[in-house]
Amino acid sequence: MKAISLLGSTGSIGTQTLDIVAQAPDQFRIVGMAAGRNVELFAQQIRQFRPQIVAICDQDKLSDLREAIADLDSPPIILAGESGVVEVAQYGDAEAVVTGIVGCAGLLPTIAAIKAGKDIALANKETLIAGGPIVLPLVKKHNVKLLPADSEHSAIFQCLQGVPKNGLKKIILTASGGSFRDWEVERLAEVTVADALKHPNWSMGRKITIDSATLMNKGLEVIEAHYLFGLDYDDIEIVIHPQSIIHSLIELQDTSVLAQLGWADMRLPLLYALSYPDRIPTPWERLDLVKVGSLTFRSPDHQKYPCMNLAYAAGRTGGCLPAVLNAANEQAVALFLDEKIRFLDIPRLIEETCDRYQSQNKSDPSLEDIIAADQWARQAVLIASQSSSQREYFLSRP
Ligand code: NDP
Repeated sequence: MKAISLLGSTGSIGTQTLDIVAQAPDQFRIVGMAAGRNVELFAQQIRQFRPQIVAICDQDKLSDLREAIADLDSPPIILAGESGVVEVAQYGDAEAVVTGIVGCAGLLPTIAAIKAGKDIALANKETLIAGGPIVLPLVKKHNVKLLPADSEHSAIFQCLQGVPKNGLKKIILTASGGSFRDWEVERLAEVTVADALKHPNWSMGRKITIDSATLMNKGLEVIEAHYLFGLDYDDIEIVIHPQSIIHSLIELQDTSVLAQLGWADMRLPLLYALSYPDRIPTPWERLDLVKVGSLTFRSPDHQKYPCMNLAYAAGRTGGCLPAVLNAANEQAVALFLDEKIRFLDIPRLIEETCDRYQSQNKSDPSLEDIIAADQWARQAVLIASQSSSQREYFLSRP
């Protein structure tokens, strides 16, 4: 039975991971769990899965959590704060850590897990985008597996099984096109948060759903694919595939193309990251190609979705710039979700922030450089979002 620690248990990735564990109790057991601030759900999960150690990131929620599970006969070790989450990540005999935390907050716990010799089931892409130059050498040094749980990267990883090292030529990442794929570009200026949160195919957390609407998610995935599979940016392509049945493809040196297909259900890539290299039977609905009917493809519109090009540019530049892009995006998305900026301000603020950072970029950054760049970018976006035109806009709102 594989022992797992789960970071971000109360989120979309976290709850789906627990669903897998609940369905395969003879295969997996939960050793540690960490969450942000949702005490009610976290307490329910602790009751059901009985981990040995838990951490709630928000220190103010610690007493509520203690109270909520006070009646348990053998309660877990209960910790709080970022250091508590790090403790869970590196704890005890867990073999694998699922990183379902959202954002760059996942970076330090992921590094701690790697240093403690745990395999990583990587959902938290922001960790790799910001910390790639640090994370990858650590993975090698500690001889752990970095197993992609993002559906596109899992698809590529699955297709690569059995392909010789020099056989891969290109990666083709599929994209649903997000909430606004059928909207005219002119309408994007007026979209609301509710519009942007209506994803056509996937049910996910709020931040990644907005990233899908801007297509920054695909841009971040390009950088993630570069780090995971080592291809040049020119060999990583994006294609819009509205049905989200093909989760990505690889092109081989002889022009053969391999794809992985399945319903839009994150449990499948999560399960493979946990069971690799085995295949575990599941009761899930079989993919019925007749029911799917047709699979269609089109080129992404880079004018409508500038975030993709911003990500390619940051990835090609490297150093701390992907961390800056990622942090600027996290901050801009948070401001959009709080209705403090408009949808089209997201790419504008990211571009301005990356442009301003370029001259101070370091090609071979340390962890401290990456963390400093992340913090600088968040602050830069906050300041830029309060420019006079923004204030006028907010004052003019009803
Ligand atoms: P959610 O917003 O649904 O969940 C985020 C989780 O992280 C919650 O459990 C939250 O806790 C927890 N959390 C937030 N900050 C911290 C922190 N500092 N320490 C510990 N826990 C924290 O996000 P998703 O599940 O959608 O996404 C998680 C990651 O997986 C993201 O990086 C995303 O890009 C990636 N991903 C997600 C997919 C999906 O289908 N959802 C698909 C592919 C990738 P709480 O709720 O208690 O505050």
